[in-house]
Amino acid sequence: MTNNVASDGPPKGLVVNIQHFCTEDGPGLRCTVFLKFCSLRCKWCSNPETIGRLPELAYNMNKCIGAKACGRCLHPPAPEGAMYVVDGLDDRIHVNWDLASECGEETASVCPTGALYLFGREMTVDEVLNEVEQDQASFADSGGGITVSGGECMLSPDFTAALLEEAHNRGINTAVETASNVPYANIEKVAPHVDYYYHDIKSMDAERHKKWSGASNKRVLDNLKRLYEQFPDKKFIARTPVIPGVNDSEENIRATLDFIRPHPNVIKYELLPYHRFGQSKYGFLGQKYELEDFPSLPEETIVRLRTIVDEAFGRKGWSEVNDPLQPPGSATTG
Ligand code: SF4
Repeated sequence: MTNNVASDGPPKGLVVNIQHFCTEDGPGLRCTVFLKFCSLRCKWCSNPETIGRLPELAYNMNKCIGAKACGRCLHPPAPEGAMYVVDGLDDRIHVNWDLASECGEETASVCPTGALYLFGREMTVDEVLNEVEQDQASFADSGGGITVSGGECMLSPDFTAALLEEAHNRGINTAVETASNVPYANIEKVAPHVDYYYHDIKSMDAERHKKWSGASNKRVLDNLKRLYEQFPDKKFIARTPVIPGVNDSEENIRATLDFIRPHPNVIKYELLPYHRFGQSKYGFLGQKYELEDFPSLPEETIVRLRTIVDEAFGRKGWSEVNDPLQPPGSATTG
C-alpha cells in the first residue's frame, strides 16, 4: 500500500506541514517535511493530523468570529448540516464530524480567520525543495538538512525517494523519521537516498506493540534487521518513545539493545520521554485523545533507562546528545 499521489508524471506528496529550524529531527537545524498517512495507530501519537490517508478538515473554535459576524461555512460548499450553531448556547460554529469528513479545501477556503483549515496539500518535489532551500544558510552553519517525517513517509516511497534524491543533487543532507511498518520494497526504494535513518522501536513485545500501536512489531523488526545488513554504510539512529506503563521497563530497553548492538551502523539509541504536545490537535480534528488520564513519565525512570543505554554503548550521555555525526567511541562527551 502506498500514498503516492500522482499515478503518471512526477510524483506528488500529500504534505501536512513544512517546519523550519527543527532541532530534534536529525543533526544540525532541520527543515522537516511531514507527510500524510500511517500504518500504525499509536495511542500517544503527537501528530494525529498525519495519520489518515486523505486531506482532513480541522477546526479551531477559538479562531471563529461567530455565525452572526461571518457564518460563511453554514452554506455550500459545506454539506448541509456539517456546520451548525446551537440555539441558545452561543454564536459559535460547531462541527458534525460525520458530515464534515466530506468537506475539503473548498469549505476551508471560505473561512476568513483560519478557524477552518485543511491538513494535507499535494506538492511536487520542486515545490517542497523551493521552500526547504530557504534554510540553506542555516544548513551550512549547523550541518543540518532536510528530514522527511510523517505519518509514515515510507508509505509514499516514490515521492520520498524523489524528494531526497533531488535534495542530494542540490547539496542538502537527508534524514527520514520512520516506524518502518511497511513493505520492505518501499524502504529499499528510499534508503539509497538517506543519510540518517531515524527509526522507532516502540516495543520488543509483539503483543504490547499490537495493543498500543495497532500492529505487531514483527514486520518492523524483520525490516530493520534486513536494512541494517543491506546498507552497512548508512547511519541508523534507533528511538523509543518511552510511555509510562507501556514500554518503560528495563527488560524492554535491554531487549532493544540486544537487537541493535550487533549492528555497528546503528550509531545511537535515543529514548524520547512521553509528552502530550499534540493533544489539542485531536480536538481540532473531532477526535478523542485516549491517553488523557495517563501519568507523566517520572524523571528518575528516564534517567535510569538512559544509564542502561549509556553503559551498553560505553559512553555517558550517548542516549541524550544529538550528535549522530559522531560514531561510537569518537566523541568527547565525558
Ligand atoms: S467561516 Fe470560519 S470564522 Fe466564519 S463562522 Fe465559519 S468557522 Fe467561524
